[in-house]
Amino acid sequence: MTTTDTILPTGRGSGLPASLTPARIERLAARVSASPDAARVTTHAPYTGVPLADLPVSTPDDVEDAFARAHTAQKSWAATPIAQRKKILLRFHDLVLARQDEALDLMQAENGKTRRDAFLEVVDIGIVSRYYARTAAKHLSPKRRRGAIPLLTHTTELRHPKGVVAVVSPWNYPLSMAASDVIAALMAGNAVVQKPDTQTALTALWSLDLMHEAGLPADVWQMVIGRGSSIGGALMDNADYMMFTGSTATGRQIARDAGERLIGASLELGGKNAMLVLDDADIDKAADGAIAACFPSAGQLCVSIERLYVAESIRDKFVAAFVARTEKLTMGAAYDYSVDVGSLTTASQLKTVTEHVDDAVTKGATVLAGGKARPDLGPLFYEPTILTDITYDMTLYDHETFGPVVSIYSFRDDEEALALANSTQYGLNASVWSRNAARGRAVAARVHAGTVNINEAFAAAWGSIDAPMGGMGDSGLGRRHGADGILKYTEAQTVAHQRIQGFTPPARISPETWAVLLTNALKVMKAAGMR
Ligand code: NAD
Repeated sequence: MTTTDTILPTGRGSGLPASLTPARIERLAARVSASPDAARVTTHAPYTGVPLADLPVSTPDDVEDAFARAHTAQKSWAATPIAQRKKILLRFHDLVLARQDEALDLMQAENGKTRRDAFLEVVDIGIVSRYYARTAAKHLSPKRRRGAIPLLTHTTELRHPKGVVAVVSPWNYPLSMAASDVIAALMAGNAVVQKPDTQTALTALWSLDLMHEAGLPADVWQMVIGRGSSIGGALMDNADYMMFTGSTATGRQIARDAGERLIGASLELGGKNAMLVLDDADIDKAADGAIAACFPSAGQLCVSIERLYVAESIRDKFVAAFVARTEKLTMGAAYDYSVDVGSLTTASQLKTVTEHVDDAVTKGATVLAGGKARPDLGPLFYEPTILTDITYDMTLYDHETFGPVVSIYSFRDDEEALALANSTQYGLNASVWSRNAARGRAVAARVHAGTVNINEAFAAAWGSIDAPMGGMGDSGLGRRHGADGILKYTEAQTVAHQRIQGFTPPARISPETWAVLLTNALKVMKAAGMR
């Protein structure tokens, strides 16, 4: 692995990009729903550790107030024609693309990722906003359903917004995760009160700013800032639906609380994702794919790969190709496209990554690449790391590391590969490599994961926006993207209009005769092939 010179434009002589002036930061911070005398919290830039922003902290009362305003605003928003909502969203799409440099600077400053990784978030927002702007009307339109009695019952399925949706979004994909779930909720006619992670709140606030510039009315989308332990209760108590992205442990708590309130929740949680390199895979392409799969955003990506299973017969060649590519990766802090791997985001992430690797090495794992922190580059850098000789007693065997660390295992045949891939409680994403498309698809269908990519790491399934994306098992409940990703924000209502009386016997027919007639009618309907 090589390192680049640390290139830090000197915005304020502090290693922050020039676009991030104190005035700009304060303007974004002013968008937080909090009282004027709110306490403040300071965030730090991962690349250097310098203070980045002082943000107001919302109290439970501030959250209550935000929901009260959102409930009022939601009524007129729900009455706004969907064509008007679509226009706002398409304007937002254009603004994000046109002003992407502002977002890229913010994402890098707050998260420590590379510009290339940050750019993928811009792409994601482009895809999601275009998709829901152009398809919401179709997903939400009243649907004619077969009536109880053919021709006599006219039945329609309607979709109503839930009301005010709470969205809790994480720090690892600060633009994509903040805006994409909100976009679908808004298009369905809901208002949103969102709690972005404090560390990456500026990026989320930037997207809110742009949405207002695109024409979203005041109070339809608001943001609160604070710890889950402080304002999580107020969010849950007031929400009509909870969209949560984060760890499995917090997801379980949210599910319990949502159950108590009998509101719906969508939970996008952790993973321990597997990549399977079958014996007929193109080794060079699979090695390139493994780089793309394991190290984006320094491995702080829910769908990144942490377990790599390689067919025994090609293991040595594959490992040589993968290690050689990993050693060539450049690492550093640069507000341009020159670097391959960036920094971790928080000290607690660095601690987890270090502990997982040290624990594995102490218990006998072999380090094939990386394996250590790089304080010479910045306080939170950790090298892209490849391990092998992993055993069950090592923490990283089945616990999510959420860092640039992957373990290599081998297998004899596809059955064993599947058994190994399916051996954790998680089920978020997987990747299968084979030159044989039919074989790849057959293996993919048997992997316990909500998305499976063939000859690709994660972007093929994630970017297939018309198809659902989400986790099985401990990786979550519910889906984003596609019809599922917007319909979850709605209440289904069935309206059935009975044109001619048909369920109770007419006065002149006895109940016995009526029972015989209905029995015969049921037989005829089955014989006629009716559903
Ligand atoms: P986390 O669960 O520790 O925290 C997530 C957020 O939940 C934080 O903002 C926290 O303040 C908030 N929170 C805590 N308790 C709460 C409560 N009772 N009510 C409301 N909010 C509460 O997760 P994290 O470590 O910040 O994020 C990383 C995790 O997110 C990883 O496990 C990763 O795999 C997962 N993730 C999943 C996806 C996905 O799409 N499946 C995407 C990104 C990240």
